[in-house]
Amino acid sequence: MSITNRRTFMLHVVVGGSAIAASQAMAQGSPLVAETDANAVSLGYKSDATKVDLKKYPAHKPTQHCGNCALFQGKAADADGACPLFAGKHVSAKGWCSAYAPKAG
Ligand code: SF4
Repeated sequence: MSITNRRTFMLHVVVGGSAIAASQAMAQGSPLVAETDANAVSLGYKSDATKVDLKKYPAHKPTQHCGNCALFQGKAADADGACPLFAGKHVSAKGWCSAYAPKAG
C-alpha cells in the first residue's frame, strides 16, 4: 500500500467511524471549538486560517481552510461544521489545523 493510499484509507476510517457522532453533534447545534482547547492547541487550530503560525506550520497554504478539508463535515456554504478531530464541537469553515487534508478533487 503506498503512502498516499494508506493516508486515504486512514481518512476513510476516521471519517467513517465518526460520521454518526458528527451528525449528532450538528443536529444539536454544537459549540465552536475554542483555540485554547487542549486538542486545538496541539493541532495548531485557528478559527481564522490567516492567523496560522507560519513559523510553526510552514506547510500551510493560504488556500487551505476547513471548508475545503476532507475531514470537514459541513456543507460548502456552511460557516462552520463538525470535524471528527473535535468531537461534539464545530470548527469554522475559515479555520485550519495541522491535520488539514485536501478534499479529493
Ligand atoms: S483543517 Fe480539517 S482536520 Fe483540521 S480542524 Fe479543519 S476540518 Fe478538521
